[in-house]
Amino acid sequence: MEKIQGLQVYKFGGASVKDAAAILNLCRIVRDFGPQGPLVIVVSAMGKTTNALEEIFQLAYAGKSCQSQLAALRKYHFDTIAGVIPISFGSEHVYDETEALFKELESRLKQVDLNGNFDEQYDQVVSFGELLASRVLALLLAWYGPVHYLDCRPLIRTDENWRDAGVKWPETERNIAETLPLLLAKGIVVTQGFLGGTADGRTTTLGREGSDYTAAILAYCLRAESVTIWKDVAGLLNADPKIFPDTVRYPEISYRETIEMAYYGASVIHPKTLKPLADRNIPLRVKSFLDPAAEGTLIHDCQHPALAPAFIRKTDQALLSFASKDFSFISEENMAVIFGALAQAKLKINVMQNSAISFSVCVDYSERRVHQLLDLLREQFTLHYNTGLTLFTIKNYDAASIARLTAGKRLLLEQRTRHTFQFVCQG
Ligand code: ASP
Ligand code: MG
Repeated sequence: MEKIQGLQVYKFGGASVKDAAAILNLCRIVRDFGPQGPLVIVVSAMGKTTNALEEIFQLAYAGKSCQSQLAALRKYHFDTIAGVIPISFGSEHVYDETEALFKELESRLKQVDLNGNFDEQYDQVVSFGELLASRVLALLLAWYGPVHYLDCRPLIRTDENWRDAGVKWPETERNIAETLPLLLAKGIVVTQGFLGGTADGRTTTLGREGSDYTAAILAYCLRAESVTIWKDVAGLLNADPKIFPDTVRYPEISYRETIEMAYYGASVIHPKTLKPLADRNIPLRVKSFLDPAAEGTLIHDCQHPALAPAFIRKTDQALLSFASKDFSFISEENMAVIFGALAQAKLKINVMQNSAISFSVCVDYSERRVHQLLDLLREQFTLHYNTGLTLFTIKNYDAASIARLTAGKRLLLEQRTRHTFQFVCQG
């Protein structure tokens, strides 16, 4: 497609729409710091809405009532809207459309089939967080200028890998190229992150925190000039300031370094976000919505001197060890069986290590998935596992950073490569 001159993509996460003050701040950023040229805004569900919807769905799937949780979520959305724009301002349609989405959500919940596919039904319910936020934001931003609301589900075509859907790039690129330029000519396009759709029109989700990825998908397909992710931190930091004191910000960093940090679990950017941007050389800015004039971080194709060590923590990990039952060595054939079972249970390996007669993996803990895996492998292997663990990664480590992080901890597994030091510990 023809490049749209100067096109920018902004992504606003849940924290930037978590209450009325946050939404008003977002509108101010778009008005005062936004580009003169075309702009696509991708928005996540408000605040902790996705967690709330997960809980609501789990209750419904267990055949329990979720009425009070649903009422609380509804109240939260209406209170937020009322804080931005009182009903008397001729804004009844914002309330009406929100009400309509809640009605739709309620009827979806009534259809939940306790014998049906959990993951598929999860996507049909949990997607409402983004549908609500994007609809509300589009209507509120329209007070500032021309805005076009876009439901991206028919455009971002995915497979049926529910909750972690894979993008079908040729169809997606074609759909976006056919639709977006016309809409952008009419004003700012506001759409939702995290969502896609199958060929037969069912909703999929791209994995938790997947709205960053949506911004990258759109930017790639539109050959955007840049993407900006607006966060509640000053940019890409070497550690999460809520966990580690004395963090430093990287003013500039390469795609490669950032991909690795995101892969190891740095929560600042969804790991799938970087590849589409690197493929088309689209720079990614991470900026603070609390201080929009500040520099932030520029992620692009660049060379830079050695970086300050990055500290990454992943909690709620499980360490699973598989040993052959007859003391035979763990062979390539055994590994193939173990990997096959991990893939079937949809468990992603965060670290792995093998000894002569046992093989260990560290994964994000999900009770359902770990039990599915154990059922698949119980006959062939002796299995041990520990849960409630934490995986720490130090990228670009040095002796001081290792000493600092491991002090006082009981390490269950440790691994060191040229640039990366990882360990799993209790708690
Ligand atoms: N709302 C989704 C989540 O919380 C997607 C996102 O925030 O990026 O996981
Ligand atoms: Mg979120």
